[in-house]
Amino acid sequence: MEIRGRVLSVASECVPLLKTGGLADVVGALPAALAAEGWQMRVLMPAYRSLRGRAEGWAEVFREPDLFGGEGRVLAGEVAGNAMLLLDAPHLYDRDGGPYSGPGGDWTDNAQRFAALSWVAARIAREGLADGWRPDLLHAHDWQGGFAPAYLAYGPPTDVKSVITVHNIAFQGWAPASMLGALRLPYEEFHAEALEYFGGLSSLKAGLVTADAITTVSPTYAAELMRPEFGMGLQGVIAARADRVSGILNGVDTAVWSPEAEERPYALRSLKRKAESRAALCTAFTLDVPGPLAIVVSRLTDQKGIDLIPSVLPDFIAAGGGLAVLGSGDPALEGAMRALEMRFPGRVGVRIGYDEGLSHLMFAGADAVLVPSRFEPCGLTQMYGLRYGTLPVVAAVGGLADTVITANPAGLAAGVATGITFHPTDAAAFGQALRQLLALYADPVQWGQVQRNAMKHPVGWESSAAAYAALYARLAG
Ligand code: ADP
Repeated sequence: MEIRGRVLSVASECVPLLKTGGLADVVGALPAALAAEGWQMRVLMPAYRSLRGRAEGWAEVFREPDLFGGEGRVLAGEVAGNAMLLLDAPHLYDRDGGPYSGPGGDWTDNAQRFAALSWVAARIAREGLADGWRPDLLHAHDWQGGFAPAYLAYGPPTDVKSVITVHNIAFQGWAPASMLGALRLPYEEFHAEALEYFGGLSSLKAGLVTADAITTVSPTYAAELMRPEFGMGLQGVIAARADRVSGILNGVDTAVWSPEAEERPYALRSLKRKAESRAALCTAFTLDVPGPLAIVVSRLTDQKGIDLIPSVLPDFIAAGGGLAVLGSGDPALEGAMRALEMRFPGRVGVRIGYDEGLSHLMFAGADAVLVPSRFEPCGLTQMYGLRYGTLPVVAAVGGLADTVITANPAGLAAGVATGITFHPTDAAAFGQALRQLLALYADPVQWGQVQRNAMKHPVGWESSAAAYAALYARLAG
């Protein structure tokens, strides 16, 4: 295919190299999805300690001798079909621990660590790489890439346009104002319309005010971000640039997330065989559930509404339902989940931890997936649920509202319902949604219809990739 343009994507995580959340899935999926649209993408991310071995023997394509207290080298190679650029700067990234925090909490130099990533991205955008590659666009993700559009905007004029994508507004990359100079940002831009944020700095705000376009990962989240309930302080900044904001849904990798690719395969036409996975799931969690078997696969945090589960579950269990939980996070919520398991043996099973293989069995085997989020930029698990005929029961926020069509009388009559949505995110509405689920489950004809609608709902990258490609084309002229 003819190359329409080149994009430098800059992010702090990317599958399969490093993942702490959905951001990594998206950053890792975009290159292939956009290649199909004629856009060539390379992904720049830090060479954390765990990745340095991977980059051995890779070609050095860029060097920055003065990168916030040490040298930075960019190494180019391929991982899982993606063209990767790893920023090797041992003084910033070669340490034990996670990408954002170590044994003692968040790394205290996170502002410099990700400013460095952004600095190198902006330099590459301007100057190109030693192998001759030069991007037309810089696409930054979240606060970790936030300074990249700013370095581009505040430097000498350039043709390279920039996009910033907000995957989660909750993380804003805050730093004290005293770091302005150390972060190589211009003093004259320290005011409310530019870099200043509640008296300090926010790398995310810096990106939002300087990028040529702002995207987020669902149309509903794009609208929500302009409201105080969801904007988390940045609503005014985003609303002021509303004409540059768009919401493009994430897709999922439909080859990996496919009931036909599971150990006990089934498809739209062989839905009955889903029962084999259900039996395996019950065995894995030691469950015996007469009614609908629901799952939760999630970070266990307040954002995800996990704290609502203990209040709605007893009625659901009493009506024949069951629950399998896989997740980790807030110790109090982990404890609350374990307590439910103790209280409802054989009906509730809980695995604390991260286990992608087990999550596949859960989506294949369950009847429903619960996503009672307070906010959800896009959300992936409801889309896995659709794909597997595992009906999503979701709070009607963000991407959840954009991907699930609720099974109310109108939705059922029109034959378009794919799950159950509820609003607001509280125990009363969630409990009502579970009663709806039980009623639907009791009607096998309608249940089967909704399952089939769900499985037919497109959740791949095709239409999203086309939307990104259209945006890039518009920006690059
Ligand atoms: P977020 O990025 O806010 O955590 P998303 O729904 O966008 O939420 O993405 C979460 C991803 O992580 C999904 O792919 C989900 O299946 C996966 N995931 C979350 N917790 C676990 C777990 N404990 N084990 C396996 N996969 C998990």
